[in-house]
Amino acid sequence: MSQPLCPECRLNLVWQHQGYFCLHCERRAIKHATCHDCGHPLESLNACGATSYFCAHCNELKSKSQALITYTLADKTTE
Ligand SMILES: [Zn+2]
Ligand SMILES: [Zn+2]
Repeated sequence: MSQPLCPECRLNLVWQHQGYFCLHCERRAIKHATCHDCGHPLESLNACGATSYFCAHCNELKSKSQALITYTLADKTTE
């Protein structure tokens, strides 16, 4: 597993408040999983402590290696 990087500044994201956060950009980063086969967004499923993915387009479960993980920065909010 590679360390998640900020899509803007390429610095390591830190795990904070149940999500990834870029200290440099001061924005939360949202994880996206995309199907390696068809490019559609994957649903992540947490079963027995392991994450697996489901592609509604392929209509099948995908392993981690078949998921393309990307991060995008969330808009700055006043949460
Ligand atoms: Zn950043
Ligand atoms: Zn797919």
